[in-house]
Amino acid sequence: MSGAAVEREKLEVDVLLVGGGPASLSCALHLMNLVEKYNASGGKAVEKPSVLVIEKGFAIGSHILSGAVLDPRALDELVPGWKDEGGLPAGVPVSEEAFVFLAGGNTAFRVPGFLLPPAMKHRGCRIVILSRLVKWLAERAKEKGVEILEGVPGWEILFEGDRVKGVRCRDAGVGKDGKPKDNYLPGADIEAKVTIFGEGTRGSLTRQLVERLNLSADRNPQIYATGCKELWEVPKGRFPVGKVVHTLGFPLDLGTFGGGFIYGVAEDRAAVGLVVGLDYSDPMMDIHREFQRWKTHPFVRNILDGGQMIASGAKTIPEGGYFGMPRLYGDGFLIVGDSAGMVNSQRLKGIHLAMKSGMLAAEAVFECLKGGDFSERALGRYDDLFELSWARRELHAVRNWRQGYSGGILVGNIHFAAQMLTGGRGFVAKLKAKPDHLHFRRLGANGRPPELRPDGKLTFDKLTALYKSGTEHIEDQPPHCKVLDMEICASKCGEEFGRPCTRFCPASVYEWAEEKEAGGSTSDKPAGSCGRGSLKINFSNCLHCKTCDIKDPYENLRWTPPEGGGGPKYQDL
Ligand code: SF4
Repeated sequence: MSGAAVEREKLEVDVLLVGGGPASLSCALHLMNLVEKYNASGGKAVEKPSVLVIEKGFAIGSHILSGAVLDPRALDELVPGWKDEGGLPAGVPVSEEAFVFLAGGNTAFRVPGFLLPPAMKHRGCRIVILSRLVKWLAERAKEKGVEILEGVPGWEILFEGDRVKGVRCRDAGVGKDGKPKDNYLPGADIEAKVTIFGEGTRGSLTRQLVERLNLSADRNPQIYATGCKELWEVPKGRFPVGKVVHTLGFPLDLGTFGGGFIYGVAEDRAAVGLVVGLDYSDPMMDIHREFQRWKTHPFVRNILDGGQMIASGAKTIPEGGYFGMPRLYGDGFLIVGDSAGMVNSQRLKGIHLAMKSGMLAAEAVFECLKGGDFSERALGRYDDLFELSWARRELHAVRNWRQGYSGGILVGNIHFAAQMLTGGRGFVAKLKAKPDHLHFRRLGANGRPPELRPDGKLTFDKLTALYKSGTEHIEDQPPHCKVLDMEICASKCGEEFGRPCTRFCPASVYEWAEEKEAGGSTSDKPAGSCGRGSLKINFSNCLHCKTCDIKDPYENLRWTPPEGGGGPKYQDL
């Protein structure tokens, strides 16, 4: 319904921020603070800019899911004296930490602290609930005059030549047949002097932008991990507040990058999760299943047994680091946060980098406002500021880290040792990466996947976990998880990889329905077996994690935003 004949509301603002996460909100707040401070200092005043944030989730924070251990460095800069701020949900200080290797069977070994590089230690950090922090940032930004529209997804970028002039929002009220319903409302066109993309991981508009303007030419492709997470109420005294545990080993093999985490977020509450690099090669891999298996290891079971799972969700994480970042600026736009790949995967942290990138973008935009110049050259100041920042130094120091593990844990450890001795360089100046979807081995070279029968107490099937995410979508709309060519699913994807989407999606969105053979049943065939049938798309289950958009072996799945407000309603994840 995005044809030219439709009459659309048109809005004009100075600064449009797409996405209401930590990067965008830090940007909005910092920009308003800079203008306020500058105008209070005397001199020629800068007109207060109109700043608009659009957020696709039902509310600010409802699509936010993160571990999360926060390095407060950017928060210190954005809100100096935040410790004395009433109501700022800055979590609890990390009081104790451990790195544990889970071996098969029942054993677990604590990795001695002296074997861990300083970057893997969390002294001075805080365990936060990120959705609470972004809600606080949003309220603070609103007090300064920033406007925030919730439940408004961006649908496409408005270009004038190669200049970004704004964003068209998604239409509302379109039926599953693609026709307008009685409540049809065309999405508004929002034009801005600068559009800042802070959509989070694998943003759908950022993807359009990067592809159209070739912003990743000369860079590594971005690579990702998927994290499944649950929030647990644990029996009294079972896990201390402020304790951080990371695990390696079980249930992942030596060819698969990833690990688990357990964070004591509050009194008798633990956040637990498993993160798996999407450069895994086994098409039978199911990250949700592996997460559930991880909880059955006695080391984890002994913490959770007798407790209750109260919330669940999943999300991808950009892990490509410094060499995986696209060009951050261009005519009419900037890219910040996870959309820009601002994650230090060695430290398992990105919130501080997202916030810092938003602040640097604000500083560049502030200079544009002062000079009345929003040209590509003027916006390029963001890149200059980033190159001079501690964020760049931090990312550059681990520039080859994650790619080193694409060949498995043992090879990765050799790379890591070399990088430790050479200031992050390792064996080569720039270690290449290949896109996650190209890592699959053919079906048949893999054994049968491990069995798991969820017990509904410690382990859960995907639909039970989904229920705990609060996910809802309007049913009568075109599926937002799109299959570009169904024939590929029916033929070569089934034959070669056994349709891995039916496993890698943590929400059972993709289901293969085999055609029944005359007089027989197909129920005894393994999942993903070759044959005719059709791919059923349960799009209303979608958690917006974006795994399908990244990992499909033929790039045959495309995630687009659903009608406004649809998706998870994460609480305290
Ligand atoms: Fe994630 Fe795609 Fe499944 Fe949605 S459909 S939950 S984005 S893998």
